[in-house]
Amino acid sequence: MTNTQEPAVFLDRDGVINPLIYHQDAGIVDSPFTLAQFRVLPGVAKAVRLLNDLGFLVVIASNQPGIAKNHFEAATLRQFDKKLLAALKPAGARIDAIYYCLHHPEARVKALRKRCACRKPGIGMLRQAARDLGISLADSFMVGDGLTDIEAGAHAGCRTVFVGRWKCEHCQFIHPADLRPTFVAKDLWEAAQIIREEVSAASGRRLRSNGNHTESPIAAHL
Ligand SMILES: [Mg+2]
Ligand SMILES: [Zn+2]
Repeated sequence: MTNTQEPAVFLDRDGVINPLIYHQDAGIVDSPFTLAQFRVLPGVAKAVRLLNDLGFLVVIASNQPGIAKNHFEAATLRQFDKKLLAALKPAGARIDAIYYCLHHPEARVKALRKRCACRKPGIGMLRQAARDLGISLADSFMVGDGLTDIEAGAHAGCRTVFVGRWKCEHCQFIHPADLRPTFVAKDLWEAAQIIREEVSAASGRRLRSNGNHTESPIAAHL
C-alpha cells in the first residue's frame, strides 16, 4: 500500500465502455454474453487517454453477475478485457485496474450467491481500489449509466457523472429522493471533457488563492 493519494476516475463498464445488448431469445437487455457482442463504443479510447493525461488513475468498477447467472464463463470475461485493452492501445490509453463484482443474491452458481458489499450501489469495489492503488476518493469521479453507479459514487464521496439522459420517473420510488449526479454527459468522451473542465477550474482556484505566495519569491529572484 502506498501513502500517496491519487485521484481516480471509476468507470462503470456496460453502457459506458461497451453497449448493452438486447438478448432477443431471453427478452432482456443485459451485458454482452459473447465476445462478438462485446464492442468498445466510439470515443472511449480517446476519453480514457484524456483522463490518463489529466493525471487520473482509470479504474473499471463493474457488477458482472453473468457468470453467476450462467450467461457466460469466467474465461469470457477475461476475453472482454483483452478486447477492450486492444481497442485502447492505438490511442495510448491505459486502464490501471479492473474490479468486477461477480456475485448476485439469486445466483444459480452457488459459490457466487451472496449478498456482498462489492455489488454497486455498495462501495466495496471503490474502497478496495482506494486501498490497493492509494486513491483519494474525495478527489475522484465515478462515471456510470445506472443509478446504482451514482449511488455508489456519492456514498464513496466521489463526484459523479451520469452517462445518458437523466430522466427517470420511477427512480423516485426506488432510490433516495436526494440522489442526483454531479454532472450529466451523453457519453464517456463528454464526461471526460467535463472532468477536464473541473480540473482546470480547480487549478485556477488554487493559483488564485496561492498567488501571493508563489509570485513574490520569483519576483525576488528576478
Ligand atoms: Mg452500466
Ligand atoms: Zn460482490
